Amino acid sequence: MHLKLVLACLAACLLSPATGHAADAACDLQWQITPHLDVAPRHLAVRLSFDAGNRTRSSLQLPGSWAGVDDFGAQITGLRAADGDQSVEPAPDTAAERTVRHRPGERVVLHYQVGSPLADADDAQPRSQADTLRTRLGAHWFQAFGQALLVLPTDLDQRTPQRLCLDFDGLPEGSWWLGSLGAQRGASAQFRWRGTASQAVNAVYLGGDLQVRERRVDGKAVFTAMPPVVSTVVPPQGPFKPGIDSVADRVAQLVEAQRRFWRDPGSDFQLVVLHPNHEASERYAGTAVQQALVMHAPQDLSVPGERFDFLLTHELLHLWIPDRFGPIAYQGRQDEAARYWFSEGFTDYYTHRVLLNAGLWSLDDYAGSINRKLERYRRSPALRADNLQVAASVFTDPAMAELPHARGELLALRWNTALRARGQLGLDSVMRGLMLPAAQAQRQGPLSKPLITHKLLAALRPALGETPLHDLSLFIDQGQPFELGDATLGPCFRLAPDAPADQPRYQAVADGLLQPRCRAWVGIGGDAPDPNAGWAEAETGGTRTVMVCRKVKGKKAKVCKPAVVKAKALKAGAKHTASGKGKHKAGKGKAAAASGKKAKPKKRSTTQ
Ligand SMILES: [Zn+2]
Repeated sequence: MHLKLVLACLAACLLSPATGHAADAACDLQWQITPHLDVAPRHLAVRLSFDAGNRTRSSLQLPGSWAGVDDFGAQITGLRAADGDQSVEPAPDTAAERTVRHRPGERVVLHYQVGSPLADADDAQPRSQADTLRTRLGAHWFQAFGQALLVLPTDLDQRTPQRLCLDFDGLPEGSWWLGSLGAQRGASAQFRWRGTASQAVNAVYLGGDLQVRERRVDGKAVFTAMPPVVSTVVPPQGPFKPGIDSVADRVAQLVEAQRRFWRDPGSDFQLVVLHPNHEASERYAGTAVQQALVMHAPQDLSVPGERFDFLLTHELLHLWIPDRFGPIAYQGRQDEAARYWFSEGFTDYYTHRVLLNAGLWSLDDYAGSINRKLERYRRSPALRADNLQVAASVFTDPAMAELPHARGELLALRWNTALRARGQLGLDSVMRGLMLPAAQAQRQGPLSKPLITHKLLAALRPALGETPLHDLSLFIDQGQPFELGDATLGPCFRLAPDAPADQPRYQAVADGLLQPRCRAWVGIGGDAPDPNAGWAEAETGGTRTVMVCRKVKGKKAKVCKPAVVKAKALKAGAKHTASGKGKHKAGKGKAAAASGKKAKPKKRSTTQ
């Protein structure tokens, strides 16, 4: 959704105040939402209206399941047509659909209520991750995701932009209305845009007496919202520590850091919502929807602090990874989990890297965070699981869920090191070259199009040959553990024990950020190649993956297997200079599609 469109249309709507049927006429599809927070049970009353065209019946999709929560449908009650001559009937075989019968050319008007299994959003009870996706109804505020709130007519043409209207009323003057579509203040609010109805579903909506702060990043609005502080209910763990001002300041810094890193202006509007989950400590998570990120955190959250910085940066990075590099999956195949090593692992890699690059984290912060992650990786009961096993149980087995985060980050580190050892600028420059314009961002693509993982291999090939493909086969597809060496984290770190008897850990080299090689690796002052490139790999005892082929008795063709070998010193003449544009051309058009297909390993092609 483009906010400029919304603002332009909003201005037009305000010039000629529209009410009742006049408002209906301006909207192909309209939801009017009125919170009822002073009744029991609290609920949101929704009036849905749309033009039925020449049809005599229209199908409706009710909220069903989303992100592992499947009780959204149970909270929709009282669905009925306003016109006594129109009827709403259950659809055969599916609980989540209804059929409305009506006359051709009529405007269909329906009413329903949305409740919540959480009786009181202000009661300071511990909230699970599933609870954070459920509708929240407080005494003076609410939050609902589109997936829980909106009944959707399914006969609308999804290819043609519709005139969509999402309006709110029923709260006191001065109330906030904000979410994926923007932010407004008053007793009511109107959001208008042209697009598809599904955009309204992948969204979050809040209203009421919320804590809200607006910050500007390069002139663009970044809003932070938190629920109101309810002074009468103090959880046993004590009050939620962070205040709205410190959260809003850090949010703006973190948003700015990654826009600068990607050299991308970002969207005109961004919302970050933070809820206390009323746990004492430990549990953090976030959910990213269109232009908004909704997080929950425990009472001991510190802002700024490592966990807050990591969670927010990781979730905000999902605005770029994977969609701005996409597609990452084929339409209808539901195979994205096989490439979580990219969408989650590269996101973790860039989370650490953006925080370091922006100066928001020190080398010690970076090392500390990665040491904890690598310790969990080394001890993982699923360490050697192959990627088919990972993809199959990523939603049910926490150890499997964690693996792609570690594997992808280690692969990104490995490829960055290999590129820089050859005098290239590194992985950041390759990734920036692969980034799609915002309007072309997509997560799923047709079989005829190369996936981002194909395009990445094609972009790496001029400098690294087939090594990345073999790495992928070995470390991701087959699940061979990464060997962690002195060079794994780059020249700012060394692997050494704190004390002689201790397990070695990554430690920041003394005054690392004053050393040209480390500064260049971090990207301080812009992209720069490794000043020691050409012999860096041999100096640090790096490894590379080669295919070793042998003749096997009884087999016609040689049998090839990937093997990790010590890297040889590159000859002086073997240095490559960075050539961003030429290198990235391989990622576009037919050539990329061809090389993408070629790049697919014959077996276990699930990771690509
Ligand atoms: Zn993630």
